Amino acid sequence: MIPDPERRAAAYTLIEYGRRLNPDGLAVGPAGNLSVRLGDVVAITPSQIRYEDIVPESICFVTVDGRHVGGEGKLSAETPMHLSVYRETDAAAIVHTHSPRAVAVSTVVDELPAVHYCVLRAGGGPTIRVAPYERFGSDALARVALEGLAERTAVLLQNHGAITYGADLAEAYERAQLVEWLADVYLAARGLGAPRILTPDELGEVASESARRRYGGAKAASR
Ligand SMILES: [Zn+2]
Repeated sequence: MIPDPERRAAAYTLIEYGRRLNPDGLAVGPAGNLSVRLGDVVAITPSQIRYEDIVPESICFVTVDGRHVGGEGKLSAETPMHLSVYRETDAAAIVHTHSPRAVAVSTVVDELPAVHYCVLRAGGGPTIRVAPYERFGSDALARVALEGLAERTAVLLQNHGAITYGADLAEAYERAQLVEWLADVYLAARGLGAPRILTPDELGEVASESARRRYGGAKAASR
């Protein structure tokens, strides 16, 4: 058992969400990875273990500067990518998926455009950028992913997958699902013709209305 209660809770949360990746269609087998930040330490799902086989003791704990300080699992190849996002943003949790529609879109466009106003909720900007292809686990991939995340909370990785982050794992995970949903809408629309894309003005109105409703209290926030 993991003695530290905060680390133990993080491990259970990672296992809970990790087990959803396959059934939710966001990854196949052990692909993808999830992490949460606990101060100067990051808890991350281990490499090459199927999510249903991960136990709390296999969750890896690594300092934000890259020292493996706990957990029996093998450190994920994408740990440097997660750590660079934690170092440069206010992310508290990160989800990296290989979801099929996000990958498909990443192979043909440089940005996933605003086919729906939920693009703001998913990525925090008018589009979701596609970071250029770099080999998995490379420092170059960590760098281009971070560039694609500038002022955003989601990025697609060309011919690879997606990364989202949030204030907790629930938010990061929901963004990963939204990215896949937006990619699905975009592909379906492209199959019919050239999709209409929301304008900066239309997205600006969405942003201000969302803010107004948020400030109006939790009851007004549902839409
Ligand atoms: Zn990956």
